[in-house]
Amino acid sequence: MSTGHLSIDAGAIAENWRALDAKTNCETAAVVKADGYGLGAGTVAKALAKAGARKFYVAVAEEGAAVRQALGPNVEIGVFSGHMRGDTDMIGDLGLTPMLNSIDQVTRHLESLPGHPFGIQLDTGMNRLGMEWDEWAAIAQIALAQRPTVVMSHLACADEPDHPMNPYQLDVFHQMTDGITTPRSLAATGGILLGKDYHFDQTRPGIGLYGGEPFRQSRTVARLDLPVIQIRDLDEGEVVGYGNAWQAERPSKIATVSAGYADGLIRAMSDRAMFYYDDTPCRLVGRVSMDLITVDVTDLPETPQALTLLGPQQSVDDLARAAGTIGYEILTSLGSRYSRRTIG
Ligand SMILES: *Cc1c(COP(=O)(O)O)cnc(C)c1O
Repeated sequence: MSTGHLSIDAGAIAENWRALDAKTNCETAAVVKADGYGLGAGTVAKALAKAGARKFYVAVAEEGAAVRQALGPNVEIGVFSGHMRGDTDMIGDLGLTPMLNSIDQVTRHLESLPGHPFGIQLDTGMNRLGMEWDEWAAIAQIALAQRPTVVMSHLACADEPDHPMNPYQLDVFHQMTDGITTPRSLAATGGILLGKDYHFDQTRPGIGLYGGEPFRQSRTVARLDLPVIQIRDLDEGEVVGYGNAWQAERPSKIATVSAGYADGLIRAMSDRAMFYYDDTPCRLVGRVSMDLITVDVTDLPETPQALTLLGPQQSVDDLARAAGTIGYEILTSLGSRYSRRTIG
């Protein structure tokens, strides 16, 4: 079998949720959008429910189906994109809770599914999703009378603790919501780490559950091992791969491993990322191609059967830095070709 092996540590996901939950005195939801940050929405939702999570969030209504199927009727599944045209049957049938982002969405929801749960999303300066001041002022009374489950907003710079945007958005959120009795939510992973002023009644961590920064104490969740298909010896001066992008400066041993950009290992990793054989780093050399990657294993004392790209030796953020991106993108790009298994 030549597909890469992606193993997902469900016990580590549960521990990460409990560790983030222990940082606050309020309810801790769990964000499982984008197929559970690429790790499998059903798998991660079950691990999180076992840890104690009862509220989940997805980005779009379609993503709610896998979570509802995995967890049954007794959990709340919020939808960040709200109630879009065409979503009504899905929201009704799956029992989803849309976060309404505009007066249009509030109107659509109250008219098409009267009495059905919803939340409200406010924009406190990120200018991405949610109602702004004047919209909220116009509709707050009507919306709040229908008892939304939550009023939420999202921080733009929470991964930078000293950024002035954080206290600014906190202040705007207070001004927009102080005095209401609806539960409030502002913090994702980064916001939890900003301290109790940001916690309100519910937090919504995502990346920290899956072993990503800014929750640096998180446990590793994803491990990716790629089988070595072939090893060859090169003389000094020989070249490797498309475009002859790498040339051996010494007699070298090159391992060809099975995975490529079609598996989410982006071309920006070319000539930059590290693989690991136990604790020994081995440099990715030449260009990442669609299904194959070449690695310099000259300095290894033995012939490797497989090389590790993600694991305790290298986090999603370490790999992201080598490729000029962020851990979120590494995780959510992990492809469908790996053989996946859940441990813990
Ligand atoms: C993605 C998202 C989250 C989770 O953010 P993390 O940084 O992954 O913890 C929370 N709330 C909203 C609105 C989001 O879009």
